Amino acid sequence: MMQRTLFCRGAFLAQQVALESALPTRVSASLVPRYRRTMSSLSVPPPACLLQPLQAPYRYMFGPGPSNLPPRVLAAGGRPIIGHMHKEMFEIMDEIKKGIQYVFQTQNKLTMAISGSGHAAMEAAVFNVVEPGEAVLIAINGIWGERVADIAERIGADVKRIVKHPGEWFSLPEIEQALTQYKPVLFFITHGESSSGLVHPMDGIGDLCHKHNCLLLVDSVASLGGAPLHMDKQGIDILYSGSQKALNSPPGTAPISFSDQASKKIFSRKTKPVSFLLDIRWLANYWGCDGKPRVYHHTGPVSGFFSLRESLAIMAEQGLEKSWKQHQEVAEYLHQGLENLGLKLFVKEKHLRLPTVTTITVPQGYDWKEITAYVMKHHSMEITGGLGPSIGMVLRVGLMGYNCNKTNADHVLQALGDALKHCHKSKV
Ligand SMILES: *Cc1c(COP(=O)(O)O)cnc(C)c1O
Repeated sequence: MMQRTLFCRGAFLAQQVALESALPTRVSASLVPRYRRTMSSLSVPPPACLLQPLQAPYRYMFGPGPSNLPPRVLAAGGRPIIGHMHKEMFEIMDEIKKGIQYVFQTQNKLTMAISGSGHAAMEAAVFNVVEPGEAVLIAINGIWGERVADIAERIGADVKRIVKHPGEWFSLPEIEQALTQYKPVLFFITHGESSSGLVHPMDGIGDLCHKHNCLLLVDSVASLGGAPLHMDKQGIDILYSGSQKALNSPPGTAPISFSDQASKKIFSRKTKPVSFLLDIRWLANYWGCDGKPRVYHHTGPVSGFFSLRESLAIMAEQGLEKSWKQHQEVAEYLHQGLENLGLKLFVKEKHLRLPTVTTITVPQGYDWKEITAYVMKHHSMEITGGLGPSIGMVLRVGLMGYNCNKTNADHVLQALGDALKHCHKSKV
């Protein structure tokens, strides 16, 4: 069976099998007939599909996220629930805050995890820092800038864009020219552009923004833990990330941090942010950042926080610099192997290649969808095509966190080599 094959093939998937002993494998056969026999007041019967066991297959998650989780993180998420306002939970949240300060390399007091995916953190950043009518400058070189521009437009911000093709980047003079022209209160840029596979140089952008009285907002969802980033040293005012990429937590929590300048802007707003759930003034209290007694705001994802705490603990034990180095080395190993297969890397300049997510130019004559479907079907492996503006241009491979090692890189290369042999190639 599938489960047994994976047991032999990949130790890390096998470890995950052990965790599910608590799930029912068979549902009591008496359930359905008994329901049919009794007279019921219900007009909607229990769905037959829910009387079957949960079907979640074992897969190699080698796309741009989510990635496979270390058993320790899975186990943390399986701990018994405690209250979201219990003192032990507040201690765990304090540990999460310290972990985020470490992985972000920041001393910011206003640091927390948003209850939601990376998009929730994007919205939290924009909704709280920007007021309607204010100018916001967005660097777009892939999908994430487009998304943030969309979010900012929804709250009536005056959105200005600087746009490049996927795989391209913005020089300091180009950024400064736009800051001078548009005088925005906020400048957005993506550190790890996972749709194009580009890691954007960060040095100097913070200083430029501050010279022009503008806050710097950076997306590090796909790069955190996988590529060097120093929030305080690089003058980043608002930094957010996600849980499910190199951090190796389940999807659903999103680290975020605000500098003193960003915090000042939030706490001196004239209007309330449009979202109650994402109101940082409320969340600052929930996360114990405002020194006041905590009052109920919302029920945080308790299990998700347990897992996040554990994945931050792993990062602390391993060391951030070691994690960066590991991602760089494995990425370079993968890149070499891809070139040996005759494939072309989408980002030409080596130092601009994102170590967590590798983009491969779709090989000539092939249909990218057939390749991703082939490796899914024959290798139980997720790799993906492009996203947003890079759709049709690239294939994307992510080896992040727990997945980031040369054995898995070899596994990807073997699967891709197999796909190139067996997928249809047109004569061009
Ligand atoms: C995945 C990703 C996001 C979005 O995260 P979700 O958890 O899917 O909402 C944002 N930015 C980047 C760079 C990403 O790679």
